[in-house]
Amino acid sequence: MARNPTRSNDWGFPRWRGYGSSREATTVRLCDRHGCDAPGNCPAPKSPNSPDRWYFCEAHAAEYNRGWNYFEGLSAEEAAQREASESRTASGYANASHYAWGGPGDGSRSRDEMRALEALELESDADFDAVKAAWRRLAKANHPDVRPGDADAAVRFQAVQAAYEVLRTAEERREWRPS
Ligand SMILES: [Zn+2]
Repeated sequence: MARNPTRSNDWGFPRWRGYGSSREATTVRLCDRHGCDAPGNCPAPKSPNSPDRWYFCEAHAAEYNRGWNYFEGLSAEEAAQREASESRTASGYANASHYAWGGPGDGSRSRDEMRALEALELESDADFDAVKAAWRRLAKANHPDVRPGDADAAVRFQAVQAAYEVLRTAEERREWRPS
């Protein structure tokens, strides 16, 4: 899609200019914000998955981060396309990680899930009801409210929460997979 060339001159491409009127070799990169002549020292990603960077002055970097709108300036079609390609990447990774992590047990659980089951003191064939029950029991036993000032219990509590998250996510993925 053709871009407006006038706009690109000021906004779409990096601007390099001599600093001041001297003809010395030193150049300073200027803030990419339209109309700003402050030095652009703050790199900001143009989009989450892109190596391209804007270079803003401090004030405009702050403004950019505040007003971040990932789809700004894209047509609806372009925005949908970007969203589709990025969710494809993300779910592609999720699928790959699911199938790549073969572990012991009945073969349907990843190594992360096996570790999580271990943290919840469960066997590899435990179903999700057993997971929930173990999680409640261990979270309660190690909860900071129940054992204030107990650092070991706090660590166990975190581990139990993390293990439950892993197993819950895996369970949801299994439920949602079309059969
Ligand atoms: Zn600026």
